[in-house]
This record gives sequence, C-alpha cells and structure tokens, in this order.
Amino acid sequence: IARIAAVDPAIHAFLETTEALALEQAARLDAAVAAGTLAECGPLAGVPVAFKDNMNQTGTHTTCSSRMLENYVAPYTATCVEKTVAAGGIPLGKLNMDEFAFGSSTETSAFGPTKNPWDTSRVPGGSSGGSAAAVAAGLAAVTLGSDTGGSIRQPGSFCGVVAVKPTYGVVSRYGVVAFGSSLDQVGPFAKTVEDAAYALNAISGRDPLDCTSQDITTDFTANLEQGVRGMKIGIVPAFMEAEGLDAEVKAKVEEAAANLEKLGAELVEIDLPNAQAAMSAYYVLGPCEAFSNLARFDSVRYGYCDPGHADLGSQYEASRAGGFGPESRRRIMLGSYLLSAGVYDKYYYPAQQVRTLITEDYAKAYEKVECILAPVSPRTAFTFGEVSDPTSMYLSDMFTISINIAGNGGMSLPVGLGADTGLPVGVQLIAPQFKDQNMFRVAAALES
Ligand code: GLN
Repeated sequence: IARIAAVDPAIHAFLETTEALALEQAARLDAAVAAGTLAECGPLAGVPVAFKDNMNQTGTHTTCSSRMLENYVAPYTATCVEKTVAAGGIPLGKLNMDEFAFGSSTETSAFGPTKNPWDTSRVPGGSSGGSAAAVAAGLAAVTLGSDTGGSIRQPGSFCGVVAVKPTYGVVSRYGVVAFGSSLDQVGPFAKTVEDAAYALNAISGRDPLDCTSQDITTDFTANLEQGVRGMKIGIVPAFMEAEGLDAEVKAKVEEAAANLEKLGAELVEIDLPNAQAAMSAYYVLGPCEAFSNLARFDSVRYGYCDPGHADLGSQYEASRAGGFGPESRRRIMLGSYLLSAGVYDKYYYPAQQVRTLITEDYAKAYEKVECILAPVSPRTAFTFGEVSDPTSMYLSDMFTISINIAGNGGMSLPVGLGADTGLPVGVQLIAPQFKDQNMFRVAAALES
C-alpha cells in the first residue's frame, strides 16, 4: 500500500485502492500464521492482487473507466475476484483501463491514461493497461484483466510481464462488465509463468452463475518442468511476413523459435487461411455485442443521469451522450447500424460464418501441432497520442484477435527488449481449446 502511494502517482495504474479490504484479509492471514494454519488459506495466501475496474467487488467502485459509471458502487462480487480472495490474495484495489475495454492504449479512460513503467512517455497498452503496469511497476504480484481482442496479451507485451488469456470458458465472466460476451475472457498478469499458472488455477472452473464456464480441473502448473523436447510447435508464415510487423519484434519471435528448436521442439509451418479476415469479423461482431451489452446503461437503472429532462427520450439521449466517451459512442453506433434491418444480413451473418471458418482453421492446425508461436503486437509501446486514428489503433490487435474469434487460449511471454527501441517485446503462445497447459509448458521452457 505504501509502495502504491509512492510510485503510482507517476504511473496511474490504480483508480481506487482498497486499503480496508487489504488489511482485513491480511489480518485474517496473520491470525492463520499465528494458529499455524496458513497452509489452509489457499495457494495465493498473502499475494498482493488487484483487479481491472470492470470487475465487481462489493463496496468498491466499478467504473469501467467511464463517466457513465463514475459513481457506481458494486453491490456484489465477480466470481474471479471472489476466487482470488478466497485463494488468499490480498486485494489492493481497482485498475485503470480503456473505457469499457474499448482500446489498445488505456488512452480512452475517462480518468486519464496509465503510463508505461518502462518509459512514462509511452502507453502501457490496453485495454487492461492498469493491470499490466501494476505488475510491471511492482505494485501487485498478480492482477486480473479481461481480453476481448487482445486486451490482456498486448499490454502484457508492452509492459514486459506474463499475461494469459485462457480458452473461452475456463474462467467465469460473472460480475465482469460485458463488452463482447462471446469473446470476453478473464485472465491473470504476473511476473513469472509459474505465478500466472497458480493464479489461473485459483480462478478457473465451472460457475453456476456463468453458463459458458466449464468444469476445469486442470492444474496449470503441472507441465512447467516438462520441457519441450519432441513437442510440435506451429509457426504461421503469414503472420511472420505480415505488413506492419516491426523488424525488432519479428527478430524476437524468430529468436524464440530458434530457442525452442534448441530445446528439442520441432517447428512446423501451419496455415490459417482465414485468419486475415479476423480483424474484419471482429469489428463487426465486437461492436454488435457491445451495442447490445451497453444498452443497459440507460440512466434509469444504472449510471450517469443528465438532470432536468421532462421526457424519457431526451433524458436517454443526453445521458448516453454525456456519459459515454467518443470511442464507446463509436462502437455503439457501429453496432446499432450493423444490426439494423437490411444491414444485418450483409455484415453480422457473414461475420459469424467467417468465425466458423477461423475456428476450423485452428482446429485443423492443431491436428499437426500442440502450440503455436506468433507475435503479440506488431510493435513495441508507442507514445501518447502517436496512434491517433481509430483504424491504426485497431491494427494493434492484428495477431491477437483471431483467437478470441476461435475461442482458444493465448498468452504473452516477455522475451527481452527490442533491438531498436529498447522496449519490452512479448511473444504469443497459442494453445488448442482447453489445452491451455500446453502454452504454459512452452512458456516455462522459454522463460528458463
Ligand atoms: N483493442 C481491441 C478493441 O478495442 C480489443 C479490446 C479488448 O480486448 N477488450 O476492441
């Protein structure tokens, strides 16, 4: 808590600190230490943790970094938060993000951006920028974020920390404010692969409150020592040759591939013929789901209410115009248009067909390989304001989006600093659905 007070003013990873909750949990653990029962307090006992501000925790604000929810205090707790605390984590607070998780830089937060701890003139990535920066700056050992198109992995790469988006369904989404319900997945940030595996162990599994969550009994720490000898690892030539992939990032991915080969893995070229359509499909499906999910912020049941309107229509209009920032409004309008009569058949329906094709591409690739190695982001962290048009910002996720479309797990593993910028670079490891342990195994081998 003292370190957050000293360091965070320069980083702005935290929107709120929850000192009372932290001390309460710490007291409980101290009592367990005194009683000699600490071992019963869970695998995260005493680990300082913090949560992206789209995760509800009773009595704390859940703002989604939006004016719309600036004064909203959660009356209940998200399952991922509850499980982290039940596993012994000490909850330090709520972390900054792009507004409603729309973005790749944390610059769309209504409460000001988070800064990259490696270079405070640069963005930490997004949308879970606060979650990545808090771990990188040593303000929490484990944080949780959410990833709809890259929002865990890309900030993980920009901040040089381990960042895991599990297979869709591994972690309950109950109590996490929805962006794209069929794409969103919660996952951990940590300094090491092992820490991230313990954190995922704690939060994964079936939750009766989220019907898409699965009965996961996997121990994600089980294969960390196994090494990669004999493992087949896929490389996607189309990703490596992609326009816009910076040379220093490409070099790091190639270096990781060479290291895996040295460690006894076999590299296999694979083809994902429909992956180049992932971005287009995502910017149809994502806004459609966001439009639908954000309809609940109507100024009556939740959120900002513009005062003094005589009729409901003008109250809705003024409240939504005043409560949502520009990127949120852009997504809502896009989704509203794409789902309208006549337009739906032209975009939404084909995007769903593309989704099936991409999912099949991955399934086919995994007949030949057990894990895929790819870039995370085409470049290292950019400076504030440098990427100013929305379409260029959307390209940040060109290597991360297809697995949200397909539902697979993926993680970003830091592999050192880029030769040109001297900033952190991550490589992406992508697992078959519900075989997330494969990517942990490869990551642990590369890390050591
Ligand atoms: N950057 C992507 C977007 O703005 C992904 C965001 C996310 O994963 N939440 O939609």
